[in-house]
Amino acid sequence: MVNQSLEKKETSDTPEGASLIWFRSDLRVVDNTALAAATRCSNNVLAAFISTPMQWHEHNVAPMKVDFIRRRLDVLREQLAELSIPLVVVEVDDFDREAQAIADLAVSHNISHVFCNQQYEWNERQRDELTAGLLDIHNIRFSAFDDDCIITPGKVLTRNGQPFKVFTPFRREWLEVYRFEVPSVHPKPEKQQANGFMLDVQPEPMMSFTYPVADSVHWPVDEEAIKQRLHMFCEEKAALYHQQRDIPAIDGTSCLSPYLSIGALSARQCMAALLAEFPQCLDDSKSGAFCWLNEIIWREFYRHLIVAWPKLSRDQPFLGWTRNVVWQKSDSMLNAWQQGRTGYPIVDAAMRQLRQTGWMHNRLRMITASFLTKDLLIHWQAGEQWFMSQLIDGDLASNNGGWQWAASTGTDAQPYFRVFNPTVQGERFDPDGSFIRTWIHELRDVPDKYIHQPFLWDKAESLNYPKPIIDHKSARLRAIEVFKSAKALI
Ligand code: FAD
Repeated sequence: MVNQSLEKKETSDTPEGASLIWFRSDLRVVDNTALAAATRCSNNVLAAFISTPMQWHEHNVAPMKVDFIRRRLDVLREQLAELSIPLVVVEVDDFDREAQAIADLAVSHNISHVFCNQQYEWNERQRDELTAGLLDIHNIRFSAFDDDCIITPGKVLTRNGQPFKVFTPFRREWLEVYRFEVPSVHPKPEKQQANGFMLDVQPEPMMSFTYPVADSVHWPVDEEAIKQRLHMFCEEKAALYHQQRDIPAIDGTSCLSPYLSIGALSARQCMAALLAEFPQCLDDSKSGAFCWLNEIIWREFYRHLIVAWPKLSRDQPFLGWTRNVVWQKSDSMLNAWQQGRTGYPIVDAAMRQLRQTGWMHNRLRMITASFLTKDLLIHWQAGEQWFMSQLIDGDLASNNGGWQWAASTGTDAQPYFRVFNPTVQGERFDPDGSFIRTWIHELRDVPDKYIHQPFLWDKAESLNYPKPIIDHKSARLRAIEVFKSAKALI
């Protein structure tokens, strides 16, 4: 299932000529499988990052994420310099040019071996096949390692050797595999001796593509701050995670997703930090620590799925029959959802949090995704794209998995007849409306009793806040009917 032709080329530890380490979504020096291998194999290592501004633009990568990557590259460059490894950033117009850019760089620097960590999305895997072919023409070896997951995709299988489609049995088997082969964290590589590249490689200009600067205080990129966020979470919050993780007004989750999405932190590092604090947590499924691990396993699940079913990263629903769903096309409804003006306070507060911070709480991602796909019956891909255009942690596998779950089109999907009631969700997870009031200033003075249905308040007319753009009760019935009819067409 994992790209076999790339795997076969994995390296031996024999020292060889100059190596190139190609950074992609693994922007770290600690626990980086490809970097560890490259430095074991050569004393002469060059590092590269290919930036594709047009691609990011066309595929709606969030400006905050681009800025986050740019800032992280500055840190990575310094960290690599301490190891005597220069980092070059090459800018190309198009994603399709990445493979050629790496081949050109390798040839011009007399590289004998290119190292990288696998990316599991379909286009990225095709690009790596192409890269391997181009390098092969010049007798340059190419090694792509499994690094992004704690357990490599393809290793967690049913008794019949099939990939899992449902999370709970996947998790059970994942834990079995984990117990059998506890993966270790790679230490930071040793400083390179006499790196010839240091003499010739000039510092390249960093990415020319600039965007509004993300909130750097909230999302620092230096090593110390990231480590501290992880350890502080494990020491102070993980024990209560199961009780607090669904309450958006509480800062009860780790907020590590942006770091995991660009690989500034690895899932293995998360797991190691958690186990250091809670050595027995694998055996205590009711604990907060286990509950957090469960989320890390969700991340793994969605990655394993896109490897097993490449169609998921090619705009396809997992459940074929859901292609028959007749979605509504309404720019005004979509716009109201995007701008946080649906008249449903919990939905609007979440959508405003997303636009302002580039991040949204998981419970709210589920509520807003359900609202778009079920209440408004707008295609999940419109929501998926909007999230990618805003999220600092935008990540194809988790985003696609989350959207297909909410829209009932995915593997482990919510059944189509289960539709979140946004008012009830608000009452349950933000009972006194503190989260809502933080993000919707118009509703600051609305009494608690009306905070989830402000249009019922007798002073509602004075608020600059819309009435609900749709009636949930009838929208729910419509969604169920539309899905039922789509399924009947099989
Ligand atoms: P924590 O609760 O501290 O969890 C720890 C880590 O586990 C997270 O950082 C994340 O890497 C992983 N994780 C947690 N929940 C999930 C989940 N449900 N699925 C997969 N991984 C999970 N996550 C992204 O990283 N990028 C996305 O683009 C993304 N889009 C989503 C879209 C929808 C519609 C939904 C429902 C979920 C999406 N998620 C996405 C998953 C989840 O919402 C975020 O990972 C989580 O909110 C990040 O906050 P945290 O770091 O505080 O998580």
